[in-house]
Amino acid sequence: MERRFTDLLIVGAGVAGAYAALSAKAEGARVLVVSKDPLPAGSTPYAQGGIAIPLDDADIEAHLEDTLRAGRGLVEAEVARSILRDAPRVFEHLLELGVPFEPTPTREGGHGRARVRHAGGDRSGMILLETLFSRLDAPRLEGYMATRLLVEGGRVAGAELLGPDGPIWVEAGAVLLASGGLGQLFPVTTNPPGATGDGMVLAWQAGATLRDLEFVQFHPTALPSGDLISEACRGEGAILINARGERFMPGYDPMAELAPRDVVARAVHRERQETGGVFLDLRPIPDLLVRFPTVVAAARALGFDPQKAPVPVAPAAHYAMGGVKVDAQGFTGIPGLYAVGEVASSGLHGANRLASNSLLEGLVLGERAAVSALRTLVTPQNPRPLSARSLDPAFVRPLRARMEQAAGLIRRGENLEAALEWVQTLPVSETEMAPRPWLEAAHLATLARLLLKAALLREESRGAHFREDFPKPSPAPYHTEVRGLDVVHRVL
Ligand SMILES: Cc1cc2nc3c(=O)[nH]c(=O)nc-3n(C[C@H](O)[C@H](O)[C@H](O)COP(=O)(O)OP(=O)(O)OC[C@H]3O[C@@H](n4cnc5c(N)ncnc54)[C@H](O)[C@@H]3O)c2cc1C
Repeated sequence: MERRFTDLLIVGAGVAGAYAALSAKAEGARVLVVSKDPLPAGSTPYAQGGIAIPLDDADIEAHLEDTLRAGRGLVEAEVARSILRDAPRVFEHLLELGVPFEPTPTREGGHGRARVRHAGGDRSGMILLETLFSRLDAPRLEGYMATRLLVEGGRVAGAELLGPDGPIWVEAGAVLLASGGLGQLFPVTTNPPGATGDGMVLAWQAGATLRDLEFVQFHPTALPSGDLISEACRGEGAILINARGERFMPGYDPMAELAPRDVVARAVHRERQETGGVFLDLRPIPDLLVRFPTVVAAARALGFDPQKAPVPVAPAAHYAMGGVKVDAQGFTGIPGLYAVGEVASSGLHGANRLASNSLLEGLVLGERAAVSALRTLVTPQNPRPLSARSLDPAFVRPLRARMEQAAGLIRRGENLEAALEWVQTLPVSETEMAPRPWLEAAHLATLARLLLKAALLREESRGAHFREDFPKPSPAPYHTEVRGLDVVHRVL
């Protein structure tokens, strides 16, 4: 077995992993970045909207208010405030690195002001990632999947990676998970195929806590292919109409098309059920082709011309608000293990993410976690791997169908219970090594089980989690936490 050694092993090469790597390199550390798929990989390159940055000191509190409102009582206000305070400095750094931000910010859903920064029209994520990697001088392994964490004396001390020529071990002073979300749990998702929640399962197996897994944000306006039509389009004037040609959002919320995502997504879901379809009319946007070339190309690839007629849209699984519970430094509580970006639950998003806050979170916490991890490095002596899990990938399609039906936009206790019962019958087995699709299938099944348990426990409706049998929020907000096999909830 090939063995490698590094100070900081970063699992994931999206915005969080890339910025963490740059930050660790700036501290003079040895860094190894690993990505399951060849770069550009993960959700980051798909990000169209941009990065939300407070406009000035006074706007920090206004941005916080918007974040708190979207998060429906579950945002950790101090964590959020600290991230927003760091945002302008990180933005300046990105400009220094050469990210070609456009001079004027735009306004997106849930934001009271135009504070979302774009680069390259709707190619913000791709341009950001390209710039970060153009500045990063660190070894990276592309096409290597972290399959098991290595542990030693209660610490995480590296990971086993499955590469094209078989497994290798990377022993590290600390491991930073930046492995993204879990959109592949659902049949229609804006996330790339690699978004199978690997990092959440690896951290959970190592004893970390998973928090608020039930909060999955569905993007209200995806094309039938899962390609997203950015919120920015609605910010610039696009309107939603139902199959009868009626504009319906003003009837659901005073902010109409710019209401928080959960409100818009459920309205779209209802109108699709009641009228047979929902369409986004992009024609009110001036210079549509110049401003949103990716959206226009994706619609045209499906045979629709948004410059001529409204295009059909539906909600799609988009963003995991929950994940590995971390503190404001990205620390999981397990020595040697950090988690940042979408894999983590830092407290910024609460029950619903405010648009364009996630790239920001990846940047700010990526930097903080890298710097903190480097302060606590321990050279491994003889670490051993935890076991991996394996499941026949033939179960993934029925699993997704179950998740959509039971844990999609509208949930009910009996459906969640039936799905949980079924998921528990899946033959997930412990293994030393299995092919990638078998490992990913087991990760999805494991997360499905934990997510369904958390969704059952949350007997209320809040943010992205809507229970028809408990349609109101409970008076006191609480988090759900999964650690080991137990699900516990904790009142704030
Ligand atoms: C279509 C779309 C549009 C979006 N638009 C915006 C937006 O405008 N603004 C905004 O703020 N947010 C947006 N988001 C959300 C945002 O893009 C993501 O939350 C963010 O990019 C996640 O970054 P990350 O670094 O945590 O993970 P990702 O960018 O998802 O990267 C994950 C990395 O981990 C790797 N990986 C995963 N598992 C393993 C493993 N087992 N071993 C090794 N490597 C692994 C992947 O290969 C990849 O390199 C959007 C998301 C999507 C899908």
